[in-house]
Amino acid sequence: MKKRVLSILLCIAVLFSSAQMFAFSASAASVSSSLTEKCDCGYDPIIYIHGFGNPLYMNYGAENEKEIWVPEKDVLMNGIKKLVPKFFKFMFTRDYRAFALAVKDFAFDLLTPIMCDDNGDSILDGISAAYTEPTGDHPKNTVKIYYYDWRLDVYDNADMLRDFINKVKAATGHDKVALDSESMATSITVSYLLKYGYDDVSALIFRSGAWNGISFMGEALSGRMTSCPESLTGYLQDFVMGREAKNVFFRFLIGSVGQVVIAPLSRLIDNLFKKAPDILYDDCLLKIYGNMPGVWSFVPDEDYESAKKFALDENKNAVLIEKIDRYHNEVRPKIKEIVSNAMSKNINVAIISNYGMYGVPATENYTYQSDFMVDTKFSSCGATCSELNKPLPEGYVQKVDDGHNHMSPDLQIDASTCMFPEYTWFVKGMIHTFFNDGYREMTYKIIYADHQMNVFEDEKYPQFMVNDDKHKTIVPMTADNSELLTKAELLKIRKSR
Ligand SMILES: [Zn+2]
Ligand SMILES: [Zn+2]
Repeated sequence: MKKRVLSILLCIAVLFSSAQMFAFSASAASVSSSLTEKCDCGYDPIIYIHGFGNPLYMNYGAENEKEIWVPEKDVLMNGIKKLVPKFFKFMFTRDYRAFALAVKDFAFDLLTPIMCDDNGDSILDGISAAYTEPTGDHPKNTVKIYYYDWRLDVYDNADMLRDFINKVKAATGHDKVALDSESMATSITVSYLLKYGYDDVSALIFRSGAWNGISFMGEALSGRMTSCPESLTGYLQDFVMGREAKNVFFRFLIGSVGQVVIAPLSRLIDNLFKKAPDILYDDCLLKIYGNMPGVWSFVPDEDYESAKKFALDENKNAVLIEKIDRYHNEVRPKIKEIVSNAMSKNINVAIISNYGMYGVPATENYTYQSDFMVDTKFSSCGATCSELNKPLPEGYVQKVDDGHNHMSPDLQIDASTCMFPEYTWFVKGMIHTFFNDGYREMTYKIIYADHQMNVFEDEKYPQFMVNDDKHKTIVPMTADNSELLTKAELLKIRKSR
């Protein structure tokens, strides 16, 4: 009798386990989510959320997969082959409108596959970013990268981020993740927090955030693109970071070449936009970028209504407008509230903003502090900034006296007017998203800290730091290292202009 009971029990056990085996093979994803044991390693997995412009594919993962952004080399070469003769013809005829048409054709050759329709939906089906199911491994100081279709609206992209977060949690056995958001991703992350709350998150890094917009995008979508030689030269010079002799020499070279090549090029661009606005704005820029909802998250508040009037049609684009209004009207005004809520729930937060570089050379007012892309006042949520390469006006006193010193050693930034002065760090001389090892180390330290770090507690990471490009790290700013070029170097470059 006993034996029989035992064999029946065995039978049930075998059946049960084979049912489980079946479940295993039926769905690997659901198994990993239901059977992963809780991990107590103490380091929540970090999701690094990419900024605007990661590669996009048609039929990703299938045999006929094709990269549509960045355009493939032959597509680019064919475009250039067509454009070059038109350029030489233009040199002879000086027919700006004919050359503007050629530029438009070039843009369409390259960018047609990524265009959106009047509703802000992809014209082509089957387009996505690279995607792999997150695996369970999550060693300290590593990230899981999340790519997305940056053409789509940031508020909608928060839904896809949520799926990814859930998969990472399931695969790693953690209840929470850290979100390391760069550039456009800051807008997606605050949208996510507003929509889905704070329970899944243990740390938030907002770096080079485009969450309050980018000046040149507001101007471009309002029809105010312009180019001037000084900003184009400065921008190209800033591409070469660091204080090493060879880099200083390259910047000097660009400054010198500026007189011969860059100035005429800049005038050409400027004239094109002035003489053929219908071709370059209406038929080109707005058709390609104006219909991408994601791009609208880059428009600062002050340009938003005028840009919509210039670029969109109330009726034709009603669906698109409804999409883009959500971030502008419902999320952006609540950034302070959302980040404060996160901190009150013991989520570690850091805002990291770069400065000391020219912004995209497409605006007349190019002397604002930028990280090469995003205005420093926007990425830092409200820092008071000097004009580029100049100190704040003589006699300037810190605007908010909160008992701390929030002035940068080079007197270019007053952080007291930031939304979160104690939790906002600045790195001078670092390009938008070209982060180095030392920079990453800081973000990991803030993410894993057992408390909310502030800008005063760690002498390695004070409020103001400088990009030490040679050693691939960031160092505290002092009066000595705060200028990216020595006075002699600056003088040489100025003379050369
Ligand atoms: Zn773990
Ligand atoms: Zn303070």
